Amino acid sequence: ITILAIESSCDETAAAVCRDGVILSNFIANQTVHEQYGGVVPELASRAHMQNIVPVVYAALQKANQQSGEPTDEASIHALLQSVHAIAFTQAPGLIGSLLVGAQFAKSLALALNVPLIAVHHMQAHVLANLIEDPRPEFPFLCLTVSGGHTQIVLAESPLSLKVIGETMDDAAGEAFDKSAKLLGLPYPGGPLIDKYAQTGDPNRFKFPEPQIPGLNFSFSGLKTAILYFLQENTANNPNFIEENLADICASIQHRIISILLNKVKAAARTTGIDQICIAGGVSANSGLRKALTEMGQKHNWRTFIPAFQYCTDNAAMIAITAYYKFLENDFADLSVSPTARAEW
Ligand code: ATP
Ligand code: MG
Ligand code: FE
Repeated sequence: ITILAIESSCDETAAAVCRDGVILSNFIANQTVHEQYGGVVPELASRAHMQNIVPVVYAALQKANQQSGEPTDEASIHALLQSVHAIAFTQAPGLIGSLLVGAQFAKSLALALNVPLIAVHHMQAHVLANLIEDPRPEFPFLCLTVSGGHTQIVLAESPLSLKVIGETMDDAAGEAFDKSAKLLGLPYPGGPLIDKYAQTGDPNRFKFPEPQIPGLNFSFSGLKTAILYFLQENTANNPNFIEENLADICASIQHRIISILLNKVKAAARTTGIDQICIAGGVSANSGLRKALTEMGQKHNWRTFIPAFQYCTDNAAMIAITAYYKFLENDFADLSVSPTARAEW
C-alpha cells in the first residue's frame, strides 16, 4: 500500500510517501517569511503553501523513488504517482487558509488519480509519529504531546483509539517557550533558541513558580506573567540583566516548563498504571525535555519513546503513518470533506 500524504496546517508545507507503513520520503519546506513579524502571519502562510505545494509534492515523490532504487526522471515520478493507493491530508486543526491549500490539492489529486482520500487529525498524527521507527511502543501507551498550539496527555489504546486525558487550560508548552523568548528579545520561534542558550546555563539559578492545577491538566499563563515581572524588576536595576544572564535565565525557564510537563506525566502513569511513555510535537525536540524524560523513565522503570527530530516538528511522515492505519480500517473521507480550524477529538 503506497500513500502520498500532505501536511499544511501551519507554516510548514510538507509531503511524504509511505509504503506498507515504511516512510520512503519526508520532505518539508519551512516558511521563513514569518520571522520578521514575530509569529506566523496566516495570509502569508497560505500564499507560501500555494507556492510550495507542487514542488514539495514533487520532491517527496522524487525522494521516494530514490529511496526505493527507482530512477528519478519525470516519467518514473509520474509512474510512482499513478501507483499511489490513497492521498492523505491534514484536515484539522490549524490555520484555515493553510489547511485549505493542502485539502484542495489532496482532493484534486485523489479525484484525478481516482484513489480514495484520507483525512487526518494533526494532533493524532503527532502521537502516531511514535510508530514510524523502532523502537515502537506497544498499546496501550501514554503520549505527552507538546507543540505550538497544544499540550496534551493522550492515552493510546490502538492507532485509531486515542483519548485526551489531560490538556492545557491556557497556553501551550510551545507558546510558553516562544512567549518567554519574546520577552527576552529573541526572534520567533524562540523555543529552539531557549534550548540552545539553556545548554550552558544553570537551571537552578532563578526559581519560577509551578502552578497547582488539579488532575492531569496544565497551565502556563502564570509562568509567563511571572517571567514578565521578573524581567521588569531586574532590568530596572540593571539594563544589561538579560544579556549578562541569558544562559541562566533560559536554563531556569526551560527547567520549570519541563518540570510542569513531567510532573503531570508522572501523575498520568500513576493513575493509569501504564508504563510506556512517548513524547510528540515540536517541543519534544527540546534537548532538556528529551534528557529529563529519559532520566525519569529510568528512575520509574518506564519504557520511554522519543521520535527522531524530523518527526517531532510538523511533517507529513506522521500524516502518512496515520493514514496507513486508517487505510487498513477503510477509514476514507468523502471528496466533499472540508478542513476545520478546530476539531473535537
Ligand atoms: P500544533 O501542532 O499544536 O498545531 P504547531 O504545529 O505549530 O502547533 P509544532 O510545529 O509541532 O507546532 O511545534 C512548534 C513549537 O515547537 C514551537 O512553539 C517551537 O518553539 C517549539 N520548539 C521546536 N523546537 C524546540 C526546542 N528545541 N525547544 C523548545 N521548543 C521547541
Ligand atoms: Mg510550525
Ligand atoms: Fe504540529
